[in-house]
Amino acid sequence: MSLLVVGSIALDSVETPFGKADDALGGSATYFATSASHYGPVELVGVVGDDFPVQRLDQLRERGVNLDGLERMHGESFRWRGRYRHDLNVAETLETRLGVFSHFRPKIPAQFRRAKYVFLGNIDPRLQLDVLDQVENPDLVACDTMNFWIESRRSDLLRLLGRVHLITLNDAEARQLSEEANLVKAARWILRHGPSTVIIKKGEHGAFMFHAGRVFFAPAYPLDSVFDPTGAGDSFAGGFMGYLARTGDLGEANMRRAVVAGSVMGSFVVEGFSIARLLDLTSDDIARRTAEFRQLVAFDAEIA
Ligand code: AMP
Repeated sequence: MSLLVVGSIALDSVETPFGKADDALGGSATYFATSASHYGPVELVGVVGDDFPVQRLDQLRERGVNLDGLERMHGESFRWRGRYRHDLNVAETLETRLGVFSHFRPKIPAQFRRAKYVFLGNIDPRLQLDVLDQVENPDLVACDTMNFWIESRRSDLLRLLGRVHLITLNDAEARQLSEEANLVKAARWILRHGPSTVIIKKGEHGAFMFHAGRVFFAPAYPLDSVFDPTGAGDSFAGGFMGYLARTGDLGEANMRRAVVAGSVMGSFVVEGFSIARLLDLTSDDIARRTAEFRQLVAFDAEIA
């Protein structure tokens, strides 16, 4: 089933304890689409400036990402500069330059408007709301956000919450949005404000899904080397939504499988800079890691 993503397409400059990259291909929509493309076709809407090396997006096109909704505007592309120190769960934003994003209005091409699965990647919540006014009758609308928007566009974000089925955010963002220190209370607060499902990601400590009065937890895959955590959240979302769009089943058991699919994709992207690892992944790699995940959480219920 059709999957639409709207989000940032960025040039990222990232520093981790293991290396540095300047103007690497990044952005919420880029990571999401590349990850989701392992499960099926993806429709992407976003904007780049006239300084953007658009040929780099051919890698996405070759993976079945439809770029008919990509706009090129006069001006500078979105740029994010960040640093990770030894705690790779914490991204320190050094600079955010919105560039063409400050006057972008997403235009969803007619052929994308009937998408059944819609992911509003991390961008200005006013743009996320704009997109919702243009899609016709989606089965599932999910969104992501971050501290930058929780601080600067809180009321728009609260309006958005009232219009989505699902939100993914990390633990610090969930606390900041709800003003609750306890994550279970934070999830309840968010559920009261609109979505019926909340996914709280905790980096290397896994992800919780709060849904239908129950909580599901998937650990993160224990990697022995994490190179660059940028994009883990968006790649998680890509695996999660890609899996749901492919299977077309929003029952609880399948949502749980989708959380594992998301965790698998998040575990791959951090093994390299930018989207490099997502590009060389095969379906065998995905199947193998999914089986390893299963092993990781399997135990004999009769222990006690
Ligand atoms: P994550 O999956 O949370 O690690 O997201 C990483 C991506 O988010 C990076 O590639 C950045 O380009 C992008 N990003 C960072 N800040 C913003 C922002 N304020 N709005 C949209 N995208 C952003």
